[in-house]
Amino acid sequence: MRRLARFFLACFALAALPAAAETPLAPLPVVASFSILGDFVREVGGDAVAVSVIVGPDSDAHVYEPTPADARKVSEAKLVFVNGLGFEGWFDRLVAAANAKARIVVASARIKPRKLDGELDPHAWQDVANARRYVENIRDALEAADPGRAALYETRAAAYLATLETLNKEVAAAIATIPREKRRIVSTHDAFGYFAARYGLEFIAPQGVSTEAEPSARDIARIIDAARREKVAAVFLENISDPRLAQRLAKESGVKLGGELYSDALSKPDGPAASYVAMMRHNVEELTKALAR
Ligand SMILES: [Zn+2]
Repeated sequence: MRRLARFFLACFALAALPAAAETPLAPLPVVASFSILGDFVREVGGDAVAVSVIVGPDSDAHVYEPTPADARKVSEAKLVFVNGLGFEGWFDRLVAAANAKARIVVASARIKPRKLDGELDPHAWQDVANARRYVENIRDALEAADPGRAALYETRAAAYLATLETLNKEVAAAIATIPREKRRIVSTHDAFGYFAARYGLEFIAPQGVSTEAEPSARDIARIIDAARREKVAAVFLENISDPRLAQRLAKESGVKLGGELYSDALSKPDGPAASYVAMMRHNVEELTKALAR
């Protein structure tokens, strides 16, 4: 009798196995608030997640206006990843409009935030060591929401964390080749505080840690003055900012114009910063090219 039962069980298991293999689990629907975070989530989730990004390439998340389509994405998601640290000022409105039931995951959790003039600086991803923390937070959230694929998230996260470890060393080594006296530079808004603190550069900018307020004439004059007085080496453009401000700063201070840095968003897929790793490499290349001996 027992043998018969075992036989039936074996038949059932054999029949069930191929069926399970042929019907893979549907991808987990998740939302990421901006392109850089979307890249981290895709790296960890791979095909197991379907990622919708709200603020896309070359776009400014500080001043974004959510659309009804965004509310739909959020209402359909199981997890919504945000940067936090005051980056997405529009996010609470969006969650309310979407009547969202998703778990909200603050990807910058457990990162020690920097402050500038009393304001939280949200650009923590610009330090690759912090990017690793984002990835760990994303991995933990995916594993909790989708335990059946925890091993996959674990493996993918481990591989990407190793890539970021190498990238961190690569960035530090490249910046170390820039002479000390050339490490003071101008950008449009204060997006590089974490980068500067980690790798040993100094950025000044007419616009603060957010782009919500236009820089005043006085802010611009202050930076032009500082650029002249403090021997700034170059003024850099930013992919999310109007290039005319950087061009004006360079012209009026007589400081050379460097290339374009990616601060708060990736490039489009065919651009030079289509992923976080490509973005950091591109920024370092622009910096070292403009500031080399
Ligand atoms: Zn910013």
